[in-house]
Amino acid sequence: MDVRVRYAPSPTGLQHIGGIRTALFNYFFAKSMGGKFILRVEDTDRERFSEESLKDLYDTLEWLGIDWDEGPVKGGPYGPYVQSERSELYREYADKLVVEGKAYHCFCTAERLNDLREVQKKEKKSYGYDRHCRELSEEEIDKKKSEGLKSVIRLKIPLEGKTSFDDLLLGKVTRKNKDISPDPVLMKSDGFPTYHLANVIDDHFMKISHILRAQEWIPSGAMHILLYKAFGWDPPAYCHLPMVMGKDGQKLSKRHGSTSVIEFRERGYLPEALINYVTMVGWAYDDSREFFTKEELEKLFSLEKISKSPGVFDYKKLEWFNGQYIRKKSEAELIEEVIPYLKKDGIISQDVTEKEMLIIKNMMSLMTERLHFISDISELARFLFKDIGSYTLTDIIPKKMDFKGTIIALEGARELVKGFESRSDEENEELFRKKSEEVKVKLGSLLMPLRVAISGSKVSPPIFGSLRLLGVEKALERIDHVIDLLKAAVKNEVNKEDSNGQ
Ligand code: GLU
Ligand code: ZN
Repeated sequence: MDVRVRYAPSPTGLQHIGGIRTALFNYFFAKSMGGKFILRVEDTDRERFSEESLKDLYDTLEWLGIDWDEGPVKGGPYGPYVQSERSELYREYADKLVVEGKAYHCFCTAERLNDLREVQKKEKKSYGYDRHCRELSEEEIDKKKSEGLKSVIRLKIPLEGKTSFDDLLLGKVTRKNKDISPDPVLMKSDGFPTYHLANVIDDHFMKISHILRAQEWIPSGAMHILLYKAFGWDPPAYCHLPMVMGKDGQKLSKRHGSTSVIEFRERGYLPEALINYVTMVGWAYDDSREFFTKEELEKLFSLEKISKSPGVFDYKKLEWFNGQYIRKKSEAELIEEVIPYLKKDGIISQDVTEKEMLIIKNMMSLMTERLHFISDISELARFLFKDIGSYTLTDIIPKKMDFKGTIIALEGARELVKGFESRSDEENEELFRKKSEEVKVKLGSLLMPLRVAISGSKVSPPIFGSLRLLGVEKALERIDHVIDLLKAAVKNEVNKEDSNGQ
């Protein structure tokens, strides 16, 4: 069988983790089977449609490198692949069902349906259409039409019996017909089909072989089967994917953290890391292997290894994956990655100057260890490009030390910074160690004020490397400035004490 699968998002919101997990499973399944991956835009809900979501869909897939074989822009033999451009087809097939007595026009007004809902609410029944128009006679229908009344088309769900489909993962799924939402709308009065009708018609005409989609669509499954039956078509194979949940066992949602892919992208996650980790949520190759490139997954992915139980999306784990992927990158690759962030944050010029490029090249090896996200680069590297605007004195003064002690430590460190560049790191370390004994502070307490003085932050890259990058002259300037600040603060304290004593 030719494998043809599709990702069929509705552009009514930003692409989120659950959505792209579905996209990735479809994509990898198609690739691993030598099949086709189709993108279809299900934009029939005109009220919830947004251009922004559509753009986000394309941007996200491009960023992840998920390319479609058939779909919007690219085209293909069964297009168009945007549902709003296929209205004629849906109308034609809905009318066909009406003619064959498998569907019917319903003229109920929004008002009547609202009243019905109110009554059912009061009676504590779940809402369902009461099949009011199911048995209208032809004369009644013609009369209403000639009066210009608007109608929707509803599918006749059999009143008895049950409907099942085979799910590759879950086995046989059966539903009593009386439990299926009574007579779902297929065509709305605005001339657009509902998701159900368009989805089934398109999967049929686009020759989709397998439907891999989220488990939330299971309840619709039986109804779709009835639609296939009504048309006399064979349904595709189904595989409803395990849920993506947070660590607390609830469906992943904003409560757990970012869920839209664009947020991960802006935060500085690498697409490779996201692809790898998201594919591991609900799929595993074996008990141990965790790292896969996209190319490897294109070969190794298989439906048999999808898990039946829900997958947990662990933010910390993804963060860790991201760090691993950053460290796998070559220096040249990382340079490419960080430049857009440095520009965006105003650390370097839009047209990178030669001088800036030189600093970037020199600094990269030092930064890698500290990068959890590509976006961390701006905070880490700022001190190499910009003057430090202000210092937080509490950051400068190590625990259990005071202003005066810190001044002594910094003055000690200052002496060593002077000849710093001509010595090796080992020699410098040795000297700093000796100095710390001499001024009677821990090595850490000697280095921390120095670190803050030259970088403005407690989390700079390794200190010796940072000093070399910044250059002794600049470093001394900054140290002197901090010493001045501390001295001024001491004076202030003294003055305060004096005035208190008066
Ligand atoms: N448009 C539906 C969605 O947004 C597609 C569901 C399906 O794959 O059948 O999830
Ligand atoms: Zn009706």
